[in-house]
Amino acid sequence: MDDGTVNEPMTPSEQVSSRLAPRRPATAVCIGNVVMGGNHPIVVQSMTNTDTADIAATVKQVAALARAGSELVRITVDRDEAAKAVPHIVEKLRAQGIAVPLVGDFHYIGHKLLAENPATAQALDKYRINPGNVGFKAKKDRQFGDIIELAMKHDKPVRIGVNWGSLDQELLTHLMDENARSAEPKDAREVMHEAIVQSALLSAQRAEALGLSADKIVISAKVSAVQDLINVYAMLSRRCSYALHLGLTEAGMGSKGIVASTAAMSVLLQHGIGDTIRVSLTPEPGGDRTLEVKVAQEILQTMGLRSFVPIVAACPGCGRTTSTVFQELARDVETMIRERMPEWRRNYPGVETLNLAVMGCIVNGPGESKHADVGISLPGTGEQPAAPVFIDGKKVLTLRGPNIAAEFKQIVEDYIARRFGPLAQKPEKIRVSE
Ligand code: SF4
Repeated sequence: MDDGTVNEPMTPSEQVSSRLAPRRPATAVCIGNVVMGGNHPIVVQSMTNTDTADIAATVKQVAALARAGSELVRITVDRDEAAKAVPHIVEKLRAQGIAVPLVGDFHYIGHKLLAENPATAQALDKYRINPGNVGFKAKKDRQFGDIIELAMKHDKPVRIGVNWGSLDQELLTHLMDENARSAEPKDAREVMHEAIVQSALLSAQRAEALGLSADKIVISAKVSAVQDLINVYAMLSRRCSYALHLGLTEAGMGSKGIVASTAAMSVLLQHGIGDTIRVSLTPEPGGDRTLEVKVAQEILQTMGLRSFVPIVAACPGCGRTTSTVFQELARDVETMIRERMPEWRRNYPGVETLNLAVMGCIVNGPGESKHADVGISLPGTGEQPAAPVFIDGKKVLTLRGPNIAAEFKQIVEDYIARRFGPLAQKPEKIRVSE
């Protein structure tokens, strides 16, 4: 009898695993007070867009990025004034109690800036260099070697960050010529991927040959197209055990940049690839630079890799909920979380794992709310003006009247204090009776 259970080969969509692959074992690297790689949490990082020579502006932006949750912050060190500003920036940040490690981003003259500014070389926690533009022709190897020597002298790790926009042209030309002579030439795109990977790996091997140990090396190989990025990092992950920094370069503005970065990084993270991530968003003029930190955190949290802030599940709304009450409550709860989180984090360890639900009507409201720690199902159009509240999967009370938002927020505050406060009876969850 055909009961539909015959062993037919699975289609590709059926083979998709809902499980995160085990993390790729990468050599752990210490960057100031942060460790990445090994089994350490995937690190969120960001980069300033201030002129580093402007000490006040850079301190202000690094502080904002760190407060938003950036665990490493990279700054441009492009000239002598910028290099000279670095020790002052570090000093002012530490005076504010901000211990975030700083990474210096060097191009072309990094060897010179680091050699001439030893206080800067010491104040930075990591140097980022791009093997495609450490220098040209005969100077390239010498200047690369100089930076590695300085990193060893100051005991600093180095990120060897290849970018396809500034790929080592000699290497690319060599691989293209070799490919043209081959009996079975590859697609030019494949040769480009190989050149990006080789540029990173040959530079890392060279750094090791000069004496820099593997636990001082992080690799990145950034491209701007999602499928290229996935392929390049899949190749890198198979061919080395260095810690990997993920990021889609030139991701773009607004939703395009967020979606492209999320699509690329999620695939890699799902396969256990990546030890630190940066979301490179182009901000609106005068826009908030910390958005890239928020997006990076949300990628990691929604994938179940880390927890940073309580998550609010909210339905999108539809024709069944025509008032704005539900949207306003969802927004109010998000705002409350953002405003209260600094205090909650201090007083309620573990609060970042909390799940809330704000739903728009009875269709999915009670079901989704039961899956949350605390959930509310607001009345849809034509429903009774009552909002059942669910705590730990059970309906515990029903809110009515004009103060539903304030009462629900108070319920959330009370729940957090009971479950995560010093008197919490862990691991049992709170039960409240109606
Ligand atoms: S829960 Fe209700 S209001 Fe929200 S999307 Fe579903 S049907 Fe629409």
